Amino acid sequence: MSAVLESDCFREEALRIGGERVHTGRSIDVLNPFNGERVGSVAMASVDDVRRAMDIAQAYLPTLTRYERSAILNRAAALLRERTEAASDLITAESGLSKKDSVYEIGRVADVLNFGANEALRDDGQVFSCDLTPHGKRRKVITTREPLLGVITAITPFNHPMNQVAHKVVPSVATNNRMVLKPSEKVPLSAYWFADLLYEAGLPPEMLQVVSGDPREIADELITHPKVDLITFTGGVPIGKYIAATAGYKRLVLELGGNDPLIVMDDADLDKASDLAVQGSYKNSGQRCTAVKRMLVHQKVLAEFTERVVAKTRAWTYGDPMDRRNEMGTVIDEAAAEHFQRVVDEAVLQGARLLVGNRRDGAIYSPTVLDRVHPDMTVVREETFGPVSPIIGFKDIDEAIRISNGTAFGLSSGICTNRFDDAARFARELKVGSVNLWEVPGYRIELTPFGGIKDSGLGYKEGVQEAIKSFTNCKTFSMPW
Ligand code: NAD
Repeated sequence: MSAVLESDCFREEALRIGGERVHTGRSIDVLNPFNGERVGSVAMASVDDVRRAMDIAQAYLPTLTRYERSAILNRAAALLRERTEAASDLITAESGLSKKDSVYEIGRVADVLNFGANEALRDDGQVFSCDLTPHGKRRKVITTREPLLGVITAITPFNHPMNQVAHKVVPSVATNNRMVLKPSEKVPLSAYWFADLLYEAGLPPEMLQVVSGDPREIADELITHPKVDLITFTGGVPIGKYIAATAGYKRLVLELGGNDPLIVMDDADLDKASDLAVQGSYKNSGQRCTAVKRMLVHQKVLAEFTERVVAKTRAWTYGDPMDRRNEMGTVIDEAAAEHFQRVVDEAVLQGARLLVGNRRDGAIYSPTVLDRVHPDMTVVREETFGPVSPIIGFKDIDEAIRISNGTAFGLSSGICTNRFDDAARFARELKVGSVNLWEVPGYRIELTPFGGIKDSGLGYKEGVQEAIKSFTNCKTFSMPW
C-alpha cells in the first residue's frame, strides 16, 4: 500500500483488515465543511468486519525488536515531514481546519512518531534489591513491560484528525501491541492515510487495522468484544461514560471534554495575557479539548483586558481554510456552527453582552467574545467546542479558584500572574490535570503526561510515555542474587 496521494483527488477508502483493502458495498461520504464538496468516501464496516479484524489481531503475535519498532516510527516521521503539504491538505479538506492549523498538526504528528521511536529504544524496567529490611533476602526483583494479551480498541474524535490517531497508534506500535482503530466518521481519511504511511514504513498490517462505519452499528462490538483488553477513547463525556458503563472488565483510558479557564490576575502583563487568550480560544477553530473556554479575569483589569481581547478577536482572520492568510477555517460542520450561535443567543437573552462575533456562514463561525455572563448559563457551564469565549470577572484568588473548579470538568488551565505565591496556589488548588503558568491550557509536548480528572477523564494520562505504560502489563521477575 502506498501513502502517496495527490491532495486534490477524490479518495475512496476501504477498510484495512489484515493487510487487505476491504470494500463493503456501503460507504460514508466525507464532505469538505467549507464548500460541501465530497472529499472522499470510506467503507462502512459491519459487526462481522469488526470481528474479523479482532480475530486477525488476536491471532498475530508481533515479533518486532525495539530497534525495528523504532526504525518504523522514525521512517514514518521522515516520510510524513516530506509529505507535509499533501497530509495537511487532506486534514484541511475533510475538517475545515485552516492550513496554518493543519500544517502545525503534521509537525505534532511527526513529533509523536519521533518520541515513540525514542521510547521504543528505552527499557523502562526497574531493578529492586530485596535485602532492604531485617527480614529481606539476597534477591533482586526486575520489572519488565509486556504488550497486552488481547487487542486494543482505539476510538478517536474529529478535532485533530491525524494527531488524535497518532497518540493512540504510536504507543501501540512502540510496545508491540495490536490495535483496531475506529476513527471519527467525520474525518476518517486522515486516519487511513496515516495507517498507510506506517505500512509503507514497514509496520506489519496485523498490528494496526482500521475500520470505519456507523458507531450505532459497530461501536458496541468494538467496546465489548471479548478479545479486547483495553479501550483507549478520546471524545465527549456522554460517549466516554457510555463506554465506561458498557465495556465491562477491560482497561479504559478515557480522554474526555474540557472547560478550561485562562485566569488573568491583576498584576498580569495584559498584552501577553490577551495574546494567550485569543490564541487559546481560536486556534484549531476553538476545537481543542484544552481550548480556552472561559476567561477568568481580575476585576481590576477586566475592562482593559476585555478591550484588548476584543481588538485582537476582530483582527483574527478567518474564512477559506486553504487561504494561508487565514488563521482560522471552519468548524467541523454547519450543525456545530448553528449550535454555537444558539448557545450564544441564549446567553444574550439571559443578559450576557455580545462584544464581537457570533456571525455564521455555513460552517464558518466567527470568533466570539461575550461578557456579563453568569455560571449557570449554558455557554459557561457546558463545553462549547468552538471559537467562543465568555469573559468572567472575579474579585480575588479565592473566587477565581472557586469559579474555575465550579464545573464538572477538570482538564487543564492557564495562569497569567508573576506572583509566585498565587501561581503555586493555583497549581495546588485547581482540580485539573494540568496547570500552565504563562501559557495556554493546551500547552504540552507530545511526550509529556496529559489528561484530565472529574468528567474530563479517569486520571489515566496520554502523552507517548504515559500511554506506553497503560498499553503494557508490568511483570516482575525475581531471582537469587
Ligand atoms: P464524540 O464523543 O462525538 O465522538 C468521538 C468518537 O466516538 C467518534 O469516533 C465517534 O464515532 C465515536 N462514537 C460515537 N458513538 C459511540 C458509541 N456509542 N460508542 C463508542 N464510540 C462512539 O466526540 P467528537 O465530537 O468527535 O469530539 C469532540 C469531543 O472530544 C469534545 O468533547 C472534546 O473535548 C473531546 N476531546 C477530548 C480530548 C482529550 O484529550 N481530553 C481531546 C480532543 C477532544
